[in-house]
Amino acid sequence: MIRYTSTRGASPKRSFGDVLLAGLAPDGGLYVPEVWPGAIAVDPELPYAQFAAEIMWPFVAGTIDRHDFDAICAAAYDTFTNDAVIPIETLSSGIELVELFHGPTLAFKDVAMQMLGRLFDHELDRRGTRTTIVGATSGDTGSAAIEAFRDRENADIFILHPHGRTSEVQRRQMTTVDAPNVFNVAVDGTFDDCQDIVKAMFADVAFRERVKLGAVNSINWARVMAQVVYYHWAVANSAGRCADGGLVTVTVPTGNFGNVFAGRVAQRTGAGIDRFVVASNRNDILTQFFTGRAMTIGGVEPSLSPSMDIQVSSNLERLIYELLDNQGSVVAEMMQQFRSSGHIDFSGAIGEELTTGWSGYSLTDDQTLEVIRAIHETDDMLVDPHTAVGIGAAESEVASGVEGTHIVMATAHPAKFPDAVEKATSIRPPLPDNLADLYERPEHYDVLPNDFATVCEFVESHRSPRS
Ligand SMILES: *Cc1c(COP(=O)(O)O)cnc(C)c1O
Repeated sequence: MIRYTSTRGASPKRSFGDVLLAGLAPDGGLYVPEVWPGAIAVDPELPYAQFAAEIMWPFVAGTIDRHDFDAICAAAYDTFTNDAVIPIETLSSGIELVELFHGPTLAFKDVAMQMLGRLFDHELDRRGTRTTIVGATSGDTGSAAIEAFRDRENADIFILHPHGRTSEVQRRQMTTVDAPNVFNVAVDGTFDDCQDIVKAMFADVAFRERVKLGAVNSINWARVMAQVVYYHWAVANSAGRCADGGLVTVTVPTGNFGNVFAGRVAQRTGAGIDRFVVASNRNDILTQFFTGRAMTIGGVEPSLSPSMDIQVSSNLERLIYELLDNQGSVVAEMMQQFRSSGHIDFSGAIGEELTTGWSGYSLTDDQTLEVIRAIHETDDMLVDPHTAVGIGAAESEVASGVEGTHIVMATAHPAKFPDAVEKATSIRPPLPDNLADLYERPEHYDVLPNDFATVCEFVESHRSPRS
């Protein structure tokens, strides 16, 4: 059975079930497997849900019944509208797009969240307990979490969003869900205000224990694990790789680094990936890191790809842990220093691997619009602004002379970001059939003042009395 250890080295080792429910380790680090399970080879002919169960099994074996786990995978991916679950499209340039956005909320976060909701329910059931999930969102994460936890037996979910400051599609994807355990709270404030309230809740030990607070943010190991699957899937099913057998480069539109780190885990477990390209928008701190091996925190600037508007990518700590040879105490020191000085430097020998296996590019909003326009012209396809940043970065990598197969993770459906797509192409992408009536569905949410005590009181009085 694989056990999980903290990247800061000062927490006891834990089982998968513990790590699933805990999220962050008690020493402030992120959980990683103590050892990698070795190469995982799976028949590429299997349907996605079965393929997924095979890839993830070594990470959970010994903590869950195999039959239950297979059923969870089957149910999770049954919510996807495409028969292949995750289809792969080849552009006329030869770049392959892995479409991760056919889940209930049209972004790649569904791939992991649909597993997470079911895994939580199963583990809570086994322990005979319940949880109250609380999270803050500026968009994609909240809707994916709500869809994943709606109607679950053992969890209530409260998602805080800044009142009047999310896009209409994003808000409606959250507020039109009608389920007794789902609570949307529109806070009169900014996204940061929402996040501060959630942080203060977790810091309030008495409150946290009274309501059995739980979190599902992107540092949760189970989310990374579920994302490892589609890297194996993409390589196994890639047309280009089958044809030429050369280098395989995967480009990932990146924010918190959870998605691309899952690619790294896939590489570690035998997926034939040679290089990663980390694609960013004008918030280019990761481009600094992967091109100059150092980075300095700046302010977050809004862009056309809002799910990547981020300065500190929390999951980068998992890669740093590896680069520092799993020395948790050194990671802890470096993170402490990064937080106080806002600067991190890997220009010593440690940074060597960063130059051979990784690169980074950033695109401006104008460049992003130009990619959307050009792909529409050459391939008659609409792509969302996050995916466009990925395609633009992959094109730069090709132009710099990297040969072989280029795979890009397509992270959102174009209809999720219709304004940017319309600006670039004059076409407003329609919502898929299952969401076509989104604008007619009734909304459910409460508007609360930006006040910690009021929001806590709301959570306590609305969560299920069963817990
Ligand atoms: C969350 C998100 C990203 C960033 O993913 P990370 O795992 O945080 O790097 C990219 N694109 C879309 C559409 C997203 O929703």
